[in-house]
Amino acid sequence: MGTRRTPATNRQNELKAMLEGRKRELSSELNARKRDARTRNAAAHARNTEQEITEPGSHTDIELPLMRLKSETLNRIDAALKKLAQGTYGNCVECTDPISKERLRALPFAVRCTSCEERREATLRQRQPAEQRRAYVGVVTEISA
Ligand SMILES: [Zn+2]
Repeated sequence: MGTRRTPATNRQNELKAMLEGRKRELSSELNARKRDARTRNAAAHARNTEQEITEPGSHTDIELPLMRLKSETLNRIDAALKKLAQGTYGNCVECTDPISKERLRALPFAVRCTSCEERREATLRQRQPAEQRRAYVGVVTEISA
């Protein structure tokens, strides 16, 4: 191929492909689950509804939060794709260096590079428990993808 590509464009394309792949995966999973839920509902109506509730295989309680989490992730991917188009996705908020592709593949919503994250976690461990708890929530939202 005689196409000239700058490293930055190459990285952007790879990140875009990574995010879009994940988006496709999540969308089809969500659609499949919605179909499943409809099928289960129809089946429950056909049978006795009481029976469905006590049935061990019924896992509506964990399905719903899971689906909510997945659609949230989907929204975050859309936001990440927007940021990518603006050229602000995948850069460390502290040192502004590009975050490694490997890290972004594992944590698509990571906002810090590995070394800044390690430094931050080391600092957090030295703080007071109350502060640590607050900070911990921040860490969890970052990696929950
Ligand atoms: Zn950094």
